[in-house]
Amino acid sequence: MAKRVTRGFADKAAKALKDNKKHCAVCGEAIELVKHVVTMTDPTNDSIRFREKMVGVCGCNRNEIYK
Ligand SMILES: [Zn+2]
Repeated sequence: MAKRVTRGFADKAAKALKDNKKHCAVCGEAIELVKHVVTMTDPTNDSIRFREKMVGVCGCNRNEIYK
């Protein structure tokens, strides 16, 4: 049983290497890295800050990222 799990993982890893992308273990989609800008308000001085971060987008969270 353990052997089967290991082989499945190796297949996934090989596939990910082949097209140079990570694949989500949940939905199986290629994970796209996008720059996501988050706006944060600072209540102490009423200013707005922009914070950029790289997020991996796949079928699981696409609806959350692209509102
Ligand atoms: Zn996913």
